[in-house]
Amino acid sequence: MFDSYMKESILGRAIKDKKISIKFYNPRDFIKAPENNYRPVDDKPYGGGPGMVMRAEPLLQAVAKVLRLTKGKKVQIINFIPSAEKFTTSYAKQISKKYTDIILICGRYEGIDARVDKILRTKKFSIGDYVLTGGELPALVLIDSISRQIPGVLGKYDSLEEERISTSEVYTRPEILKYRGKNYKVPKVLLSGNHKLINEWKKGK
Ligand code: SAM
Repeated sequence: MFDSYMKESILGRAIKDKKISIKFYNPRDFIKAPENNYRPVDDKPYGGGPGMVMRAEPLLQAVAKVLRLTKGKKVQIINFIPSAEKFTTSYAKQISKKYTDIILICGRYEGIDARVDKILRTKKFSIGDYVLTGGELPALVLIDSISRQIPGVLGKYDSLEEERISTSEVYTRPEILKYRGKNYKVPKVLLSGNHKLINEWKKGK
């Protein structure tokens, strides 16, 4: 799930250059295998209802292993909950400055046994007001947005949007785009060479 995105482009380069490193732990590997090798990470919810709940013990053991490996480092444990506080760039900045290691717990099914959050005192984040099937996409969102705050991860051509005047309305060649008999022009101000005016235009967007 993570591989193709992380191998490419800026994240791929950051990993290759050892600016960031990402490791995976499967909670299933922390369950002692019985003879039939059936190792469920989930179980029925107390109180009833559809869907299954991820069991606390394998997750706690997986996190304990990472905590042993990161002893003495500044570690933040994050869990994903659709209704939790929204993750923002400001959090990405804070986390990149404050912590050396981040543990991202990816839930599935109906979510994970709530005692995991209580025991580990996780920071809980939502990435938006919609429900996804698992925590993998939220984890990728955090990996991407936190990594780009780490010095050296963005090349000189991709400097941080937040630290310059940036807009989502952007243009590149051709100057006049012909499409189905119509001409679509680049706003004149962007061709003016007047950076004061260009920045004012960007701010207005
Ligand atoms: N039963 C849960 C509820 O009502 O909040 C939803 C569980 S959801 C199907 C499964 C997992 O996907 C969650 O445990 C969480 O890890 C992740 N997830 C889904 N949507 C998310 C969102 N908007 N933000 C962050 N994580 C999300």
